[in-house]
Amino acid sequence: MKRRKFIQNASLSTLAVMATSTVIGCESKTKEKESLVTPVTHPVQPLVIATWNVPRATAKAWEVLQDRGSALDAVEQGCRVEEADVNNSSVGKGGLPDRDGRITLDACIMDKDGNYGAVMCVQHITHVISLARKVMEETPHVIMVGEGAEQFAYAQGFKKENLLTEASKRAWEKWKEQSVYQPIINIENHDTIGMLAIDKHGDISGACTTSGLAYKMAGRVGDSPVIGSGLFIDNEVGGCTATGMGEEVLKTVASFLVVELMRQGKSPQDACEEAIKRIVEKAGDRYTAFQVGLIAVNKQGEIGAYCIHKWFNYTVYADEKNINYPSDFYIKT
Ligand code: ASP
Repeated sequence: MKRRKFIQNASLSTLAVMATSTVIGCESKTKEKESLVTPVTHPVQPLVIATWNVPRATAKAWEVLQDRGSALDAVEQGCRVEEADVNNSSVGKGGLPDRDGRITLDACIMDKDGNYGAVMCVQHITHVISLARKVMEETPHVIMVGEGAEQFAYAQGFKKENLLTEASKRAWEKWKEQSVYQPIINIENHDTIGMLAIDKHGDISGACTTSGLAYKMAGRVGDSPVIGSGLFIDNEVGGCTATGMGEEVLKTVASFLVVELMRQGKSPQDACEEAIKRIVEKAGDRYTAFQVGLIAVNKQGEIGAYCIHKWFNYTVYADEKNINYPSDFYIKT
């Protein structure tokens, strides 16, 4: 897997000229962009926004919205695209395992009525986003973990699968040579997918799915499936989802924080920036060692995105265009 190293000492002038990938379908072409200002400046609906460069996932969600599907259906279907992609090593089948070689997936989903469902530490089910939805819709609970979640999945007709691909197994074998746990700040193409959508009725839903941090300790769960941290939706206000170092997102309940800041009148962009600054301040000197990226949308269809380190990016399908944008970032010197 190709990973891009964080350039800590890049000059401001270099940072002012960002490479932007414009994505239509699966094709990607690079062009220079002169500013980091949020690209969609006007409110727009319907809308899909997702963390990282996931044009096939946003296209699927868009297709659902065009067929008059709900935002909930759109985010579920969009996330399933990445879960099925064995080349995405941070989500679903083909995800990187924990340090014992087990792939454990986490996911959650939240709808316009504030309903929420999540699964954590699931080993043999590819489409954990759909399992999270089943927890939300078919049980009296909101969170199910491990074996219990899998038993429920089989009872609901999900197939038991081995999620460890040869490529992930090879990467794990290589990691074991040194066994150093050091989450890489950015992954060039893919990471946890968090997706928000507004449908033709103006209703908002969100979803988040991940294999978590590679080579984590067995049993570790990050922010992604935790309500308010990896994802939060309030249909009156907006939604937010996160990617990056889950432990830090959890400590600030970052997605809930962004939605509450929007409730108080901040734009999605300002709310994401303030939440990232809160994470940075809490972390003290440690903040240079990890990445967090946030994306948000408000009820009017305005969007925002912000992260700590350069290279976080996100994909927006709106106005009939499916475009990947670089996120603005905190560390500029
Ligand atoms: N937030 C995810 C976690 O901590 C990982 C990521 O987004 O890279 O599990």
